[in-house]
Amino acid sequence: MTISTAPSTMRPSGHVLQDPPAPELDDQEPVTTTVARLRSAFATGRTRDFAWRERQLRAMLAMLENEEAAIAAALGEDLDRFPGAAWSADIATTRIEVRDALKNFRKWARRERHLLPLSTWPSRGFIEREPLGTVLVIGAWNFPFYLTLGPLVGALAAGNAVVVKPSELAPASSRTIKDLVAKYLDTDAVAVVEGGVEVTQELLAQGFDHCLFTGSPQTGKKIMEAAAATLTPVTLELGGKSPAIVTASANLDVAARRIIWSKLANSGQTCITTDYVIVERSVQKEFLEKLLATVEAFTEERPDGQPVINRRQFGRLTGLLSADHGGRIIAGGGADDQRCLIDFTVVLDPAHESPLMSEEIFGPILPVITVDSLDDAIASVKRGPKPLAAYLFSNSRSDHERVVRDVSAGGVVINHALLHCMSPQLPFGGVGNSGMGSYHGKWGFDTFSHLKSVVRAWARPDIPLLYPPHTEAKARIVRKVL
Ligand code: NAD
Repeated sequence: MTISTAPSTMRPSGHVLQDPPAPELDDQEPVTTTVARLRSAFATGRTRDFAWRERQLRAMLAMLENEEAAIAAALGEDLDRFPGAAWSADIATTRIEVRDALKNFRKWARRERHLLPLSTWPSRGFIEREPLGTVLVIGAWNFPFYLTLGPLVGALAAGNAVVVKPSELAPASSRTIKDLVAKYLDTDAVAVVEGGVEVTQELLAQGFDHCLFTGSPQTGKKIMEAAAATLTPVTLELGGKSPAIVTASANLDVAARRIIWSKLANSGQTCITTDYVIVERSVQKEFLEKLLATVEAFTEERPDGQPVINRRQFGRLTGLLSADHGGRIIAGGGADDQRCLIDFTVVLDPAHESPLMSEEIFGPILPVITVDSLDDAIASVKRGPKPLAAYLFSNSRSDHERVVRDVSAGGVVINHALLHCMSPQLPFGGVGNSGMGSYHGKWGFDTFSHLKSVVRAWARPDIPLLYPPHTEAKARIVRKVL
């Protein structure tokens, strides 16, 4: 890792790597057969049974605990992950969801009784959570297990049959998810369908009782469009540019460490990574010194650069650096096109209009923007679409309250990053361009449940106020009651 002031440099290579070929899917059952089989299983009512739900969740737990080696191997193959990172990023995160659901799903499913207005007296009301039916989970490649098995937890806990469609861009993970689901879960009610755009479109054309999609805002629009044809409701877990604001009162050492930690996770290919930093001018110099020292220390274990998933992403990311972004590269800037590695790169003050500052980066490049005040930082965030996450580093409570109030984002973390995603006690989702709907914990259960309003009345008393003839006297009473 070199700290440099040089422009972006591409390390030359004679040989150009090819992206992996699309997986062979000849052995795959036709989509229509799979969906029909799952619908039949749901129609028997067996997925509604609490004992069935518990068996599936316990089997998922066993899968995560027994199959760590297979999962880590697939993540190593697809994403060049260290085995330890496979555990913390994909296995442990999913396990937290499974354990929370196992502990609570019966409670979440409980009938919720409510007092009704006088006008409905003496009826009683309650909310009954019923499984939606056969649902679809479409995953992204960056955390291929967590982003498919995580939503699966809520869907199974709520009693649905589920089709899981992992990303074709992480083929070893996609194949492993398929094998593990077949080995551990009830395959008449849970199926993994592999494939890319065509297969996903074919699936959507079948119509589902819900679709939870994780991916980019651009693809999210296509998913919503395809889902509209069958009125399939959607939850869209999308991306965006998540800022980290560093104010003058922040602990700069901690801010630097936590920001770089968040950006290094999965080489910045994380939906809630710190996309860019906004720092107050009065501490910019001191912060940059700490930031660059942290970059140097934290990248020691990958001295050749950060691995990115494929040539397409590599080309996109190096393109962001070689385009005229108007900033100054103060760390990194190099890339190895043979091994798809990019140096952790820090770009100081790129132009707001540059692709680097208008597109989600999704890689190991960190722009740092300098502003005069927190007001300017907030105004700068508000110029773009609503982000998936916003991070604030500040020791001032009033700064905390300002950002929580004034920055609309999927989630906010104060003096840290990423943590809101790891907690099933909080809903996880975007807002505006970064998504719609949420999941994790009870929110995943509710996303895959219909909240059915039920009112129970009895034949007696049968109050004649509602019925004709509509006299003046009745109207007067109705006006008082309603
Ligand atoms: P993507 O949108 O390219 O693909 C996601 C899924 O959609 C894949 O399974 C793919 O096969 C399918 N797909 C792609 N094009 C399609 C089309 N035209 N019709 C139907 N299906 C299609 O996303 P990606 O590159 O896998 O992931 C990166 C994006 O996902 C980033 O924007 C990132 O921020 C976002 N993301 C969001 C979250 C979250 O939880 N909010 C998590 C991870 C990634």
